[in-house]
Amino acid sequence: MDKYGLDIFSNDNFIIIDGEVKINYKSKPSILNIVQEIRSQEIRGPMLLRFPHLVKKQIKSLYRNFNNAIVENNYNGSFNAVFPLKVNQFPHALDAITSQGKEFNYGLEAGSKAELILAMAKINKGAAITVNGFKDKEMVSLGFIAASSQHNITLTIEGLNELETIIEVANESNLVVPNIGIRIRLHSVGSGSWAKSGGMDAKFGLTSTEILEAITLLREANILNKLTMIHFHIGSQMSDIAPLKKALREAGNIYAELKKMGAKNLKNINIGGGLAVEYNQHEHCANYNYSVKEFSSSVVFLLAEIMDAKMVEHPNIYTESGRYAVASHAVLVAPVLELFSQDYQERLLNLKDINPPLVEELIELNQLLSKKNSIEYLHDALDHQESLFTLFDLGYIDLQDRSNAEILVHNIIKKALYIEGFEGSRELELLQARLQERYLVNLSIFQSMPDYWGLEQNFPVMPIHMLDKKPIRAASLWDITCDSDGEIGFNSDKPLYLHDINLDEEEYFLGFFNVGAYQETLGMNHNLFSRPNECTINIDEKSYTISNVVESDNIIEVLEDLGYKADEILNKLESDIFQSDFITKQEKTDTLAELKMYLSQNGYLRTTY
Ligand code: PLP
Repeated sequence: MDKYGLDIFSNDNFIIIDGEVKINYKSKPSILNIVQEIRSQEIRGPMLLRFPHLVKKQIKSLYRNFNNAIVENNYNGSFNAVFPLKVNQFPHALDAITSQGKEFNYGLEAGSKAELILAMAKINKGAAITVNGFKDKEMVSLGFIAASSQHNITLTIEGLNELETIIEVANESNLVVPNIGIRIRLHSVGSGSWAKSGGMDAKFGLTSTEILEAITLLREANILNKLTMIHFHIGSQMSDIAPLKKALREAGNIYAELKKMGAKNLKNINIGGGLAVEYNQHEHCANYNYSVKEFSSSVVFLLAEIMDAKMVEHPNIYTESGRYAVASHAVLVAPVLELFSQDYQERLLNLKDINPPLVEELIELNQLLSKKNSIEYLHDALDHQESLFTLFDLGYIDLQDRSNAEILVHNIIKKALYIEGFEGSRELELLQARLQERYLVNLSIFQSMPDYWGLEQNFPVMPIHMLDKKPIRAASLWDITCDSDGEIGFNSDKPLYLHDINLDEEEYFLGFFNVGAYQETLGMNHNLFSRPNECTINIDEKSYTISNVVESDNIIEVLEDLGYKADEILNKLESDIFQSDFITKQEKTDTLAELKMYLSQNGYLRTTY
């Protein structure tokens, strides 16, 4: 049975039982059943399923690992975490994050004015809000309003000008000055696709000279007591732990130096995000080289070591790892609409009454191929094919014979592969790749997996059913956008094999896993395909409930979103129909009703299967 690397990427969140992917929690419902239930309400197109229990699992794991490391290392500071809103700001994702994170006092991180407002509106009482990113006077003022509303907020300055603005606002208003953090510009560089977040050329952070200047400014403005945090971030999806250790040494020493310079209320080190997620589903290409246990132990151990050496109290630790918290909570399920067979189907054979002898032999091989002769017959067929191509080039057989030969050889390869499998034999693997099938999937890669398009970030993909049957087709996936970039091509280093299915008789659904971080927020309406349908699944001991069903925007809503006026569009379409000389009055009324129905549906495909 092909497990599609479920044991590599899924962290035991999913399990295969009776040929279906089930959620490995309490009553273990089948993803297929959930999807079928939603589709029975006439909802069509891709479906994003959210699992709040998986958000909780990740938050819990983060706190448990850090708190264990704190105990093991006799560490005196506390552990705190905030969720960076940019990773997923959608209401039902954020609901899951704040409700599941409440018992941990899980906070929020904001990087823009809109995110800050969202954080102020949605934060659990008392939990931390950290604010990163470039800030103007208005954003700084929002920080003062938050602090005056009794939020536990820290404005992290990315440059000296932001500190000057904070001082200006403090002088102009009677509002409460928020806590201040300093983002430091480390010379340590991270690892992985997002490594440029660290290093001296990084977009954000203060150099050591600027940090010294900041301390002077804070002291002069009499608000050095507001400096509570230093912050760094060496990049998302960190592939290697070594650069983090280097960054921690650098940041830890800066922290200790600042304490010695009189920053009495400086009590927190915020280590940013970076904890990686396994997107890989093949043995040989793991995405990162550490566990969350190693990550947390390294942070706690190193900070303790540095502070003890400099005789400084252990700081509280903050993390902003959002990818780790939410990537696994969302699974996108999309139906396959069509198979674009590259090979030729047997029904297309157009045999003559008298065929060339080698074609006759292929007919026989195709009929008689069985377990005991499959490899031998396969080799014979490949040999005959070469000879038939030569005969065609020399003009001894015609195009019809050649087409018949191609169909027969393809079928023989397919049957042999089905009988023999292909693992472990280079020859059969190559033949398998030659029989590649294109699966048209009812989704937009640009909308639902933009990091695949932009960064070639893989997402684990597998059928959510039929897993008791052998997948024999080397598969490329096509999305339904009119763009050739909307394809996940077959890669023989990380091959995807899918089932040979007849879509006239049965449906076939693919699940794309770990899509809960960044993909929704970065997704774009290329070709005007809107966000997928979504819903939240809560699972208990007996069953599950589906809630928060949000249907994909319908066509008119998508156009309105772009700034078009629905009325203008509808009036124009209506007047064109009623002015037409081609159809009767009754037909006009019926046509208008039909048109309105289409406009009220989402733009994903509905009827090709
Ligand atoms: N904090 C900051 C400052 C970031 O820039 C980012 C993302 O790059 C994060 C946190 C989130 O990190 P991650 O994607 O590892 O969760």
